[in-house]
Amino acid sequence: MAPAEGTRPRVAVSSCLLGAPVRFNGGHSRDRFLTGELSEHVDWVPICPEIEIGLGAPRETLRLERSADGPRLTTRRTRVDLTAPMTALAAERAAGLTDVDGYVFKAKSPSCGLHGIPVYAGEDGPADRHGRGIFAAVIAGALPGLAIEDEGRLRDAVLREAFVERVFASARLRALLAGDWRPRDLVAFHARHKMQILAHAPAAYREIGRLVAAAGERPGEALAREYDRAFRTALATRATVGRHVNVLHHCLGMIGEALDPVRRADLAEVIESYQARRVALTVPLALLRHHARGAGIEYVRDQTYLSPYPDTLCLRNHVPA
Ligand code: SF4
Repeated sequence: MAPAEGTRPRVAVSSCLLGAPVRFNGGHSRDRFLTGELSEHVDWVPICPEIEIGLGAPRETLRLERSADGPRLTTRRTRVDLTAPMTALAAERAAGLTDVDGYVFKAKSPSCGLHGIPVYAGEDGPADRHGRGIFAAVIAGALPGLAIEDEGRLRDAVLREAFVERVFASARLRALLAGDWRPRDLVAFHARHKMQILAHAPAAYREIGRLVAAAGERPGEALAREYDRAFRTALATRATVGRHVNVLHHCLGMIGEALDPVRRADLAEVIESYQARRVALTVPLALLRHHARGAGIEYVRDQTYLSPYPDTLCLRNHVPA
C-alpha cells in the first residue's frame, strides 16, 4: 500500500540545508536531495541553533574544546563559552520535537554535526575528530527512537533509503497513535507492517507479535509506548540481503498457491537473482506486488514492505549494497 493517507512526515532539519542564509559567513548549504525530491513528500521543521541562541549571520566561527566536563562550544577568536545556552536550547527544542519523524543535521558543524567533529585540546592544542555537535548530541540523546542522519551520510544510497523508510514508518505510527485508536487498530497497523519489521529485525518481529497478541489486555497508553519503542527500534536495525530474501520467500509462500507453476518458478528465480546480487531489490518486489494484486491476496498486497514510501523517490534501486 501507499503510505497511509494524511501521514505526511514532519522532518526537522538544519536550516542551512534548506538554503537559509544562516551560516557563519552569511551563506547556506542547500542540499539537492532534501530541497528536491524529498521536499515534495515531507514537511520541514527548520532549526538553526546558532541563530536561535542569538548569534547573527555572518558571525564569528565556533569550535569544540575539550574540558573535564566534556566538550565546550566556544567562539574561535574571542573565546566566549556558549555551551550553556546551546545545551539549554537543545533541551527545550527536544521537548517540542515529539511530533517529528526524523532529523537531518548539517555535517561538520560544532553545533549540528553528528560524527567526527574536531574537539581541540585548549586554545592552541591539537584536535581529535571524535566529537559531536553540542546541539545534535542533546537532541540525539533525548530522542533515541528518532531517525537521525546528516546530509553527508544521506548521499550513501543505502543509508538514504533506510532513513527515508524510518521517517515514513514513523509518520504512519504517529498518525495512528495521535488519533482515537483502539487495540484492533494497532493490530491492523501491525499486520500491514509485519514484513517490513521482519526484513529488519526477526527477533523483534516475534517480540512485537507477542505484544500485539495481548493488545486488548493492556492499558492503551502503556501499549502505545511499548509498541512505539519496539517498532522504532526494529526499523533502526539494518535490513540485510539475507533478511530481504527471507521476507520475499515468506511472501512467495503466501501467494504461491494462487500462482500457476510457471509464475511461481519465475518469482522464485528472481528472488534467487536478487540473493546473488544480479538484480536490485526493486525487481522481485515489483513482481511480487504485481502477483499479489493480480491474485487479490490482500494481506500481501497491503504490506508496507512493498511500498514503504512513495515510489517516485526511487530509493531501492541500489538497496542493499
Ligand atoms: S550547521 Fe546548524 S548552526 Fe550552522 S548554520 Fe547550519 S543550522 Fe545553523
